[in-house]
Amino acid sequence: MNKKDFPFFQNNELIYLDNAATSQKPQVVLDAMNEYYTSYCSNIHRGSHELGNKATESYEEARRTLAKFIGAQENEIVFTRGTTEAINLLASSYVKGNFDTVILSELEHHSNILPWQLNDLHIEVIGVDQDLNINLEEYESLVKKNPHSLVSITHISNAFGIVNPIKELIQIAHKYECKVLIDGAQALAHLKIDVKSLDVDFYAFSAHKAYGPTGIGALYAKYEFLEEMNPYQGGGSMINEVSFEYSTFLDPPFRFEAGTQAIAEAIGFKAALEYIKQIKGLQAHDKSLLEYAKSSLEALDDIILYTQAKNVSGSISFNIKGIHHDDIGILLSKQNIMLRTGHHCAMPIMKRLGIEGTIRMSFAIYNTKEEIDKTINALSKAIRILR
Ligand code: PMP
Repeated sequence: MNKKDFPFFQNNELIYLDNAATSQKPQVVLDAMNEYYTSYCSNIHRGSHELGNKATESYEEARRTLAKFIGAQENEIVFTRGTTEAINLLASSYVKGNFDTVILSELEHHSNILPWQLNDLHIEVIGVDQDLNINLEEYESLVKKNPHSLVSITHISNAFGIVNPIKELIQIAHKYECKVLIDGAQALAHLKIDVKSLDVDFYAFSAHKAYGPTGIGALYAKYEFLEEMNPYQGGGSMINEVSFEYSTFLDPPFRFEAGTQAIAEAIGFKAALEYIKQIKGLQAHDKSLLEYAKSSLEALDDIILYTQAKNVSGSISFNIKGIHHDDIGILLSKQNIMLRTGHHCAMPIMKRLGIEGTIRMSFAIYNTKEEIDKTINALSKAIRILR
C-alpha cells in the first residue's frame, strides 16, 4: 500500500518499522520543498517583492491547511521546530508563573517531563494499570486534589502505542479548573484530531512523524490563551515597534515566531497533510497491521508483551525472555529490518516495568503484513543465534 509514493523505498529493500521515531517522506513533500528552493526561495513576512510575497503566501497557506486539518482557527497555530519546542514554549510562556503543578501520566516521553522540570514546576503523576491504561477514577481524584493545575498527557504513547482517552481526561480536568495540553506527536499520522470537539486547550505535534519534514511542528492553543502569553524568544518578525527603551509585539501567532522560520519545511508539512488526507482506510490499515503483528509475536516462544489493551495505535513493544533488546535490534538490522530498541525516551515507564527497554515495531501506511512475516522470520533467526 502506497510504497511507490516514497522514493526512499525505490533505492533499497529495507523493511522500515521505526515510524514512531520518524516516517519516510512521499515524493509530493520533497517536490513541494524543492519547488520553494528552486523557484521562489526568499524570506517571509518582510517585504514588498513578489517572491517574498509568494513565499509568505505559501507559508501562511500551510498554517491554514494545518488549522483546518485539526479543526482550529489559523491564528491558533504557532509553528515551532516540533513537539519538543512546542512544549518548551508553553512551559516558559504560559505555565511558569501561572501554575504550580503539572499532572503527567507514567507513559510520558521525556519531552513532556523535562520542560516542566527546567521551569521548576511541581510534577504529580497518574499511574497506569497492568495494561498501561489510566484509571479514570484515580485520575479524577488526583486532579481534584490538584485543582488549577496543567494536565499534560500524551495522546498515543510512543513506547507502547496506548491511545489515552483524552476526551474524558480533558472533561475531568476542566471540572477542576485545570488546563490541558495533549502531546500529539504520535497521533497526527494515526488518528483524526479535532481540537474543538475535544475542547483541548493546547495540542503539540511534529511534522516528521506524519510524512512531513523534520524541523517543523506546531503548538495549537486556544486564542484566548495565546493572547495572554508572552513571547518565547525575541528577534526579527515578531515585533510592532522596537526602541532601546521598549518594544511591542505582534498579535499571536506571529509574536511566537521570532527569526527566520522553517519556510520550506512548513510548505512540506502542508504537502504531507494533503497527502494524509487523500489516504483511504488509514486507521483500518493501522489496526490490521497491529493485530497481525500481535498475533504473530504471540506465537513465538518466550515473548513478553506489555499490554493486552485494545486501545493501541501505531506501535507494538515487546521483549524476548533472557535476550537483551539491543542484541535483537543489531541482528535484525543486519537482515535489513530497521526497528527501534531501547527506552524510547520514556525511562519512567521502563523503570516502573523493571526493564531497561523494549523492541518496538512501529507502523506507517507503506508497511505490509508480508513485511511483518519477514520480520518475524528474522526475529526467530536472531533468537536462534543468540540462544
Ligand atoms: N512526544 C512523543 C510522544 C514523541 O513520540 C516524541 C518523539 N519521539 C516527542 C514528544 C518529541 O517529538 P520531537 O522530537 O519531534 O520534538
